[in-house]
Amino acid sequence: MTTRGVLAAASLIALALPAFGPAPAHAQTQREKWNVPTEPFHIIGNVYYVGTAGLSSFLFVTPEGDILLDAALPESAPQIEANIQKLGFRLSDIKYVLNSHAHFDHSGGLAQIKKDTGAKLVASEGDKSALEGGFYLGSESVKAMSAPPVKVDRVVKDGDALTLGGFTMTAHLTPGHTRGCTSWGWTVEDGGKSYSALDFCSATIAANRLVDPPQYKGIVADYRATFETAAKMKVDVFLAPHAEFYHLAEKRAKIAGGAPNPFIDPGEFQPFIAKQKADFETGLAAQEARAKAKAAAAN
Ligand SMILES: [Zn+2]
Repeated sequence: MTTRGVLAAASLIALALPAFGPAPAHAQTQREKWNVPTEPFHIIGNVYYVGTAGLSSFLFVTPEGDILLDAALPESAPQIEANIQKLGFRLSDIKYVLNSHAHFDHSGGLAQIKKDTGAKLVASEGDKSALEGGFYLGSESVKAMSAPPVKVDRVVKDGDALTLGGFTMTAHLTPGHTRGCTSWGWTVEDGGKSYSALDFCSATIAANRLVDPPQYKGIVADYRATFETAAKMKVDVFLAPHAEFYHLAEKRAKIAGGAPNPFIDPGEFQPFIAKQKADFETGLAAQEARAKAKAAAAN
């Protein structure tokens, strides 16, 4: 019997053995970890956190209605809606829903929330096909990365502004992580001072193929252009779609009346971008080496 045969036989025996004792604890999947609930809270100015413990969703409150940025996973939508209501806000007051990028862990809840609020979805041209098709661009057949399709009502270009009730948000296109990755920026007031805030879309490689074939044409050049753009941005309040990117839990624990708002940290964004850039170049080199080895083996 070959080694493989022994292993196969052993696993058949293991399968045939009756189970004794308590069932093994169910290992939490990444999705379940992301979707762990958390209490909503006031971040700064007119911005509230209404997401899950791992996936951000922000509510911007204005005198003429509210704006929601990102909606986590499809299964997160009821949590986000309950969080908004817990803070005393009405779902029917949401006029716009925005999306940082068309990945199921940030766009998944959009369709449900749009349906329940009647809000208009504002997104970039680059992400429109993935949002409306409910797929991960370049991995269209991977069902585990799909999301409920949702119609885009208004397309934004780089530098476009969205204004509601005297409050303005600006779309900064930072493609790579997705073709239409959109970082939304705004000015926030705290303690009589103004600060520049940014929800940085993301520039991790995540599940993206950079080569052989790339997730989409031009992806490597897009990432590099985004690192250049981001390196020039002055950000006092750094937020992002994933809570750990900007240390949400740690900052939240530091919120105290009278103390400086822990979400104001002008020194945080640039080192974060430098690290994402370095990780990208390392990941790209690894993917290129793998593609080269594969091509050599095929010859
Ligand atoms: Zn993503």
